[in-house]
Amino acid sequence: MTIEEKDKTYVAPTYARFPVRLVRGEGAHVWDADGNRYIDLGSGIGVNIFGYADGEWADAVYAQMKKIAHASNLYYTDPCVQLAEALAVRTGLKKAFFCNSGAEANECAIKTARKWGAEHKGAEYYNIVTLVNGFHGRTLAALAATGQAEYHKDFLPLTPGFVYAEAEDADALERVVTEHKCAAIMLETIQGEGGVIPLSDKFVRAAADIAKRHDLLLIVDEVQTGAGRTGKFYSYMHYGVQPDIVTSAKGLGGGLPIGAVLFGGRTEGVLTPGTHGSTFGGNPAVCAGALNVVGRLTDAFLADVTRKGDFLMSELEDAAGVKSVTGRGLMIGILPERPAGDVLADLRREGVLALKAKDKVRLLPPLNIPDGDLVAAAEIIKKVCAK
Ligand SMILES: *Cc1c(COP(=O)(O)O)cnc(C)c1O
Repeated sequence: MTIEEKDKTYVAPTYARFPVRLVRGEGAHVWDADGNRYIDLGSGIGVNIFGYADGEWADAVYAQMKKIAHASNLYYTDPCVQLAEALAVRTGLKKAFFCNSGAEANECAIKTARKWGAEHKGAEYYNIVTLVNGFHGRTLAALAATGQAEYHKDFLPLTPGFVYAEAEDADALERVVTEHKCAAIMLETIQGEGGVIPLSDKFVRAAADIAKRHDLLLIVDEVQTGAGRTGKFYSYMHYGVQPDIVTSAKGLGGGLPIGAVLFGGRTEGVLTPGTHGSTFGGNPAVCAGALNVVGRLTDAFLADVTRKGDFLMSELEDAAGVKSVTGRGLMIGILPERPAGDVLADLRREGVLALKAKDKVRLLPPLNIPDGDLVAAAEIIKKVCAK
C-alpha cells in the first residue's frame, strides 16, 4: 500500500488532506515525496514561525532533550519557569499556565473565568460572551465558545454557559452582557478560521470598555494572532487594550505542541493548587524551544514582519482576480474571484502552499520568510488569481 492508501486505512478520516506528501523542509521551502519544492505560506497553520528545520530552535530543543525531555509538574524545571518569566516581561501580564494546544489554553481560560465569576460576582455569573464567526477550538467547551453553528451540529448538547454577540456591534454586545449574567468577554482580534476578518479598533476598544463597566474579564484568544504573527508580540497590543487573560499556542512553540494562558493582575490568583493541571504542560523540551522563539521576536524582527506583510498586501490588493485582501502582518486573507479551493490547487501546481479560511485563501508564512521567496510567491499568487 502507498502512504496515501495506508492513511485511508489506518488514520481516522477527520482531515480533507491536500494530495501532497511532505518529506523534508528547510526554511520557507518544503519538498514532497516526488521531489517537488514548494514555498510554504501556511507553515503548519502558523506554527513553524521560523520555517522548517530551523537550526537554532532545533538546537535549543535538542540540548534540553539530552538533559531532561520530560519531568512532571511535581518538580521545578528551568525552561518552563524561564518561559513564564520571558512572557511576563514581554507582555506585562503576571503569570503563565502551560498546556499543549490552543483549545486546551482556551479551556483553562474558560475555567478561570468561571471560577473568577463565581468567587467575585456570584455562582450564577458563569456565562462567557464570544463573537459570532469566532473560532476557539475543538474540545467541547472551546466548541461551545466557537460561535459557528456548522462546528456544533453533530455534537449537541453543547457545554452550557456561552452566549454570542455579533462582531462590530458594541450595542448588541452590551445588550448580551446586560441580559445574561456574565463573567467574561472572549474574542480573537482577527477572526482567523472565520475568514481572516480583523476587528476594528473601535469595536475592540468598545468591548474592553464594556468589560470594564460591567466588571467582566476580557479574554483575548491569541492562538493564531500571537507570537509575532501580526507584527506585534500579541495582536491586542495594536489596540491599546489590556486583557485579563491571553491564550497562546500555534507559533509560540515554533513547531512543537504548546499552549499558554497568561493571567493579568485580576486573574493571576484565581487558579489555586489542584484546580487545574496538565501532564505534559510545561514540558522542558517544548518550553526550551518556545523560549528560543520568544527571545527572537525582538522589536526589530517584528518590524520586519510588518514590512513583509505590508508588502504582500500591497502586491495583492489591486491584483486582477482579487476582490479583497484583509489581515495584518503575516496573517493575510485573499478573497479571490474564483473559488478559493481552485486557487489553492493551482497554487500547488505552481509550487506554493497556502491555506483556506471560509471563502478566502489564507496566508500564514513563516515570519522569517526571505524577501526573495515573498516576491516569488506574490507573483505566483497574482498569476493564479488572474486566471
Ligand atoms: C487554531 C486555533 C485554536 C485551536 O488551537 P488547537 O491547537 O488546534 O487546539 C483556537 N483558537 C484560535 C483562534 C485558533 O486559530
